[in-house]
Amino acid sequence: MVDADRTGNEGAEDPAQIKYILITHPGPDHLGGAKYFQEAYGTQIVMTASNWDSVLNAPADSWINSHLPGGESYKFWVGPPARSLTAQDGQTLTLGSTTVTMVETPRVPGSGALSYILPVTDHGQPHMWATYGATGAPPTLEGKKLYQQSVKHLFTYMEALKVDSMISNHPFVDGSVDRMKDLASRKQGEANPFVIGTDGARRYVQILGNCAEVWVARNAAGLDDLGQPLQQKTTP
Ligand SMILES: [Zn+2]
Repeated sequence: MVDADRTGNEGAEDPAQIKYILITHPGPDHLGGAKYFQEAYGTQIVMTASNWDSVLNAPADSWINSHLPGGESYKFWVGPPARSLTAQDGQTLTLGSTTVTMVETPRVPGSGALSYILPVTDHGQPHMWATYGATGAPPTLEGKKLYQQSVKHLFTYMEALKVDSMISNHPFVDGSVDRMKDLASRKQGEANPFVIGTDGARRYVQILGNCAEVWVARNAAGLDDLGQPLQQKTTP
């Protein structure tokens, strides 16, 4: 089990001990170091089949910096890993006594993102933790509708596994960066800020679904995700 206290988890400091890297979706902020880990430590990389296809079929120059703002060159972005493990919706991966459940939650049609659910402990107390693998508004109406379905799909798994702790794959969108700081300075007896209870986890995912519903409704009304009139592109 993964323990937030890190007690007995010293192996986590040694990158050679990392056997698998589970990718939510193949943006540079998620996949950027995968090739390095694969080559340096033999780490297995897990993605959906459609993500592997998109990664391996992408033009070589898209592996330098094309996803990143500002056009700067990021040295960690060294190219795609070689095809490794493919995950399917609902599949599990067991590591010692920890079983990770992988749930396909795409937000772009034809490109499956993965959400993960796994048991963790906090001061020895068991919890069930989930990360939503594709937070962020999809660009197309089709994607926004797909997002609604993905959220519902994850919800079904979360209910079955009694998830009570959440983190976004983009930790800056759900306060997780601050929660990490709070966790690091937590005093004895204080609650773990990531443990929000099963009701809290339900509300978390329902809010994601509500956001998608609003995006779809706004889009149908000729508005963008923030409710502003859609800009018609004019060509000079
Ligand atoms: Zn990202």
